[in-house]
Amino acid sequence: MQDKLVALVTGANQGIGLQIATELVEHGYTVLVGSRNLENGETAATSIGPDAYAVQLDVTDPESIAAAAERIKSEFGRLDVLVNNAAISHAGKPGRSLEDMMKASKASAASLDEVRAVFETNVFGVIAVTQAMLPLLREAPAARIVNVSSGVGSLTLNSDPAFPYRAGFGVVYAASKTALNAVTLSFAIELESTNIKVNAVSPGFTATALNNFEGTETIEQGARAPIRVALDVDGPTGSFSGPDGPLPW
Ligand code: NAP
Repeated sequence: MQDKLVALVTGANQGIGLQIATELVEHGYTVLVGSRNLENGETAATSIGPDAYAVQLDVTDPESIAAAAERIKSEFGRLDVLVNNAAISHAGKPGRSLEDMMKASKASAASLDEVRAVFETNVFGVIAVTQAMLPLLREAPAARIVNVSSGVGSLTLNSDPAFPYRAGFGVVYAASKTALNAVTLSFAIELESTNIKVNAVSPGFTATALNNFEGTETIEQGARAPIRVALDVDGPTGSFSGPDGPLPW
């Protein structure tokens, strides 16, 4: 087992995940750059430096998840931080506009195939990866699981008629983040007597491929809250927060 702390970031080949991986390396971690396409992961890991290693990891593929867990165990012998960052906003062609995504996610019109595809990655993928990594996390002295969620999934915010963005609360991406929040709390409750903290965190509206680069924040700004939660050994478990502090579930 190596002495250096080890972190795994899913979907770390681009966007906020790549920035989180980069900053975890800057904080002294050995970082496993999860990428469903190994070549993209290798390019990202090389851009970060020698403490970043690409790991093929498709969060919707049980064999890929099992192989990644096995490799982390045999090559690194430990896992201290798991950042469940990988997600998709829709299941259509790349480059779909935000407006188009919103229209297609309306409860009355959404394609169930698309709802299933998005939940497969954003919700079921997180459960599957977390279950596979738990044996290693349980052995770590102070493990953290960080689920990258979104304020758009908040039931409390969206049930308030005064919330300006509630028209965007559709059954595809937004509801998948609501479900992810439930999954986060469920793991947190089960693990609260252990050494593992489980928290949900929103990066804020960040310009990435996920929203066709229509977000208003930079990836450095987007990574700030996830990094804060990932590094917080003495922080809470079962919390939901964003760039400006606590968020309502
Ligand atoms: P992004 O640039 O599109 O990155 C998403 C990452 O997830 C990519 O690396 C993508 O890989 C990966 N991914 C997708 N499906 C996967 C799968 N089945 N297995 C493994 N990896 C997969 O988007 P981002 O904005 O950085 O998103 C990062 C996280 O922030 C997500 O959880 C997102 O929901 C959350 N978030 C973003 C915003 C925002 O405004 N951007 C706001 C709130 C929350 P490929 O490169 O292979 O597609």
